[in-house]
Amino acid sequence: MSSQLVEDPDQKQTRDKNKLHKRLRRETGKAIADFNMIEDGDRVMVCISGGKDSLTMLDILMNLQKRAPIDFELLAVNLDQKQPGFPEEVLPAYFESIDVDYTILEEDTYSLVTDMVPQGKTYCGWCSRFRRGILYKFAKQHGYNKIALGHHRDDIVATLFLNLFHGGKLKAMPPKLLSDDGANVVIRPLAYCREKDIERYAKLMGMPIIPCDLCGSQDNLQRQVIKEMLLTWDRQFPGRVETIFRAVTDVVPSHLADVSLFDFDKLGSERIILRSPPKIRRL
Ligand code: SF4
Repeated sequence: MSSQLVEDPDQKQTRDKNKLHKRLRRETGKAIADFNMIEDGDRVMVCISGGKDSLTMLDILMNLQKRAPIDFELLAVNLDQKQPGFPEEVLPAYFESIDVDYTILEEDTYSLVTDMVPQGKTYCGWCSRFRRGILYKFAKQHGYNKIALGHHRDDIVATLFLNLFHGGKLKAMPPKLLSDDGANVVIRPLAYCREKDIERYAKLMGMPIIPCDLCGSQDNLQRQVIKEMLLTWDRQFPGRVETIFRAVTDVVPSHLADVSLFDFDKLGSERIILRSPPKIRRL
């Protein structure tokens, strides 16, 4: 084979990076447009845990901000929850390097959680509840009307199955929602992005990823089982997870059995009306 035909590994890496960047930007832009996530004048607080998802979300949002025909503000916010071993210098250095406005909040929720959760139980539920409370309060106090979270398409599908298997509910994770107190709009700009694209992109970009297991806890066991199931499906039946996600965006209430979503009562009356003979007009 001619040496000219062999691609330089650096060139290949740049090509892969650009390709992934374009795909992630296109999918994020589409999700933002489909759900009207960001409008002119919005102040968006971008929640950064230090994981691949939130760092990728920030990267893509910054890029879209430069190209968008509207003006919106971005603030990267990280909550240092004081987990042992949390490398507190990493995120500020990264934020400086990419020139984004940022705030680091510090709150020792780690001690709170380890005090209240019995040994052997997972901390994640309480840890996330505390984190959400602190971040939402910050957004409200500082006038950030949108809160961006880094959940992606695979998180949405995994949540669908969690609710289906364990909650008896047909519900997933919405790309946009109003917080319980109605004060904040939460958006998930990566709702259309695949986790494996995000993972590869974050790696190729050399993002300083901080693992979310420094606390020694494990993510919810049931969620892990579902993630495993989806990974197996992805290997055995490529495209299945995409199809499931498409189903979330194309619901047919008349073919479910929720009387609050579809008026089955009326369905009968409509048929009777349709079958009633036409009125005879007397001239
Ligand atoms: S792994 Fe640790 S830091 Fe991450 S959510 Fe769970 S308890 Fe919190």
